[in-house]
Amino acid sequence: MGAGKSRVLHRSLRETPPRAVGGDGVWLIAEDGRRILDASGGAALSCLGHQHPRVLEAMSRQASKLAYAHTSFFTSEPAEALAEKLVGHEPGGLAYAYLVSGGSEAVEAGIKLARQYFIEIGQPQRQRFIARRQSYHGNTLGALAAGGNAWRREPYAPLLSAAFSHVTPAFAYHEMRAGESEADFVARLAAQLEAEFQRLGPDNVAAFIAEPVVGATAGCVPAPEGYFRAVRDICDRHGALLILDEVMCGMGRTGTRHAWEQEGIAPDIQAIAKGLGGGYQPIGAMLAGASIVDSIRDGSGAFQHGHTYMAHPIACAAALEVQRVIDDEQLLDRVKDLGRQLERRLTERFGNHRHVGDIRGRGLFQAIELVADRATRVPFDPSLKLNQRIKAIAFEGGLGCYPAGGCVDGRSGDHVLLAPPYIATSDDIDMIVDRLGRAVDAAL
Ligand code: PLP
Repeated sequence: MGAGKSRVLHRSLRETPPRAVGGDGVWLIAEDGRRILDASGGAALSCLGHQHPRVLEAMSRQASKLAYAHTSFFTSEPAEALAEKLVGHEPGGLAYAYLVSGGSEAVEAGIKLARQYFIEIGQPQRQRFIARRQSYHGNTLGALAAGGNAWRREPYAPLLSAAFSHVTPAFAYHEMRAGESEADFVARLAAQLEAEFQRLGPDNVAAFIAEPVVGATAGCVPAPEGYFRAVRDICDRHGALLILDEVMCGMGRTGTRHAWEQEGIAPDIQAIAKGLGGGYQPIGAMLAGASIVDSIRDGSGAFQHGHTYMAHPIACAAALEVQRVIDDEQLLDRVKDLGRQLERRLTERFGNHRHVGDIRGRGLFQAIELVADRATRVPFDPSLKLNQRIKAIAFEGGLGCYPAGGCVDGRSGDHVLLAPPYIATSDDIDMIVDRLGRAVDAAL
């Protein structure tokens, strides 16, 4: 192996990224000593920033007692305590936590639980799942089949299950028609979802799956008021389950523990991950309602699924401490306050920018969308890879931000996503917007 050549199969096969050698709160430290302000928390996961002493101590304490015990033989103290913390008070009726190693696993577990539930209650014909076009639910084959990101799906299309179909996303900036009110838009989307149930046969649909605030593929897109209530009604009317994927937008990122709390509904099944463990360990969870789990317990008695690393004791200990810190330091209030500041600053900096078409998001989960023309909302030519250029320039200027290429049927273009740690200061927020502004101006 030649000097400098990496044997790691990196995301890019042409470039090896710089080495990260340290972390310090909102800062990441590269090998050459550069300090990068982690304005997107990686991909919206480092909610407590880096090297939080309480989380490091909890991991070390657990590692010194027990690093691993297989879940077919044992449960563990941190797994039990984490599940209790997550669903002990049954938020929205969610009563059980299935602890896995990340977001895709959590989504796949949710899809499989829904399928098994209907078999167990004597409705095996419910084999269809409805999702939305701009969504991202993970990269494993089941989760990828649920997702609606054309670019990620394309090479693997022959391997993706036809059990999933996709409807129009609740993406007002691109999908709302001229002259249409928000209420009309919601009514149109609801009618389309209803029509999809009818096309498939309402008794054949197991579940509808959606991200309450769409993350990676569309850039922090919340649904218009009333959309999720309409979706919940349709699912209930047809006896289908509602699966919400809060892998990116959940665990406090939008200012409430769960983003669905702001929609006046609750899911039957939920996927969480990133902010659950804050990046300290690979962990995700599928949360399920009591009636689903009870039906399976009264039926076959076992969820036909499992992974070697599920409920890993050190991962559970890390996530438990992350969630305790969020509570003890009242960080959800901080997310709300800093989120308002971030939105205000982005609006001041980019509100009149001729290439920023939209500024959107909730809490500390905000994005700007770049367009070639504000009037027509036409995106930049994707071959320019504008968001990658902004990411690279921002990085040189000491800012880590998350670029994302839109893939809403070719209509949505480049956006830049910000998801700073909840422990950020007001000065950090100002610095993020200042550095992003310079990067956008330099890139255009
Ligand atoms: N679901 C959503 C909404 C996501 O944003 C992601 C990752 O970005 C996933 C699922 C997949 O999670 P993971 O990358 O941990 O497998």
